[in-house]
Amino acid sequence: DDSITLEIRVIRYGKRQYLLLARDVSRVQRLETMRRDFVANVSHELRTPLTVVYGVAETLAEELADEPELADSARLLRQQSERMKALVEDLLMLSRLETATAPPPDDVVNVAGLLQDLREDALALAAQSRHEVVIEAAAEVSLLGSEAEVRSAFSNLVFNAVRHTPAGSCVRIGWEVNNSGGHFRVSDDGPGIPTHHQARLTERFYRVDDGRSRGRGGTGLGLAIVKHVLMRHGGHLEIQSLPGKGSTFFCHFPKGRLCQSHLPNPSPVV
Ligand code: ADP
Repeated sequence: DDSITLEIRVIRYGKRQYLLLARDVSRVQRLETMRRDFVANVSHELRTPLTVVYGVAETLAEELADEPELADSARLLRQQSERMKALVEDLLMLSRLETATAPPPDDVVNVAGLLQDLREDALALAAQSRHEVVIEAAAEVSLLGSEAEVRSAFSNLVFNAVRHTPAGSCVRIGWEVNNSGGHFRVSDDGPGIPTHHQARLTERFYRVDDGRSRGRGGTGLGLAIVKHVLMRHGGHLEIQSLPGKGSTFFCHFPKGRLCQSHLPNPSPVV
């Protein structure tokens, strides 16, 4: 298509003088669309073969249980193919979120119930690291939005808190509502995040300490997914963190996304 997109900026200098800057960003936009499509296509193509590799690795790991050396290799194969599968799933989810034109569905998300699920999932993940997971607040107010997206965003934050903090740490989660809206939050007593890294954390594959974070098993796309889910729901992510003092991640939602109960035909919060 031969339409062009202009980015316009008005800069004021002096009392009544303005500078109008117009930049043709059509090419940048077209490249961005190509990049997105390419990533989505590659991820989609990789999905099926990876599922096969993972399935075979799983069978091998079971069948070879009596042969220690081979079993180790099979387990490594299973672990790494599982990691690739998670990466491909996250890439697909992110590209779906980035390209979605329709607003999210208005499912009535029972957040108090979701907090219980998240706690159980996190405890299962942390079975060996003896993390504690505490629900600090669970308002009986539901959220209107995509249940699957909200669940995925919140669980990314809870899993991050478990993965990026030392064994035995305490993770606190909460859902609170006030006059202007509601927030879900996850706090930890982990290493914290230096201020200059915070603004970039939602970029794809941005990691504070690349080597260390990779070893912890995430895909590097968690916070990018969280950001897009919140944007689609009219909300935003806030990070409060100080090195050595732990981190708190807030998912803020506007009042219009809240409803009084999780029964059918919910009444809006007034
Ligand atoms: P990853 O899969 O690497 O966790 P994310 O996008 O979820 O990717 O997070 C990006 C980076 O932000 C992480 O690699 C880590 O450096 C940092 N991070 C996220 N959550 C925490 C946390 N609770 N405490 C400390 N650092 C964190």
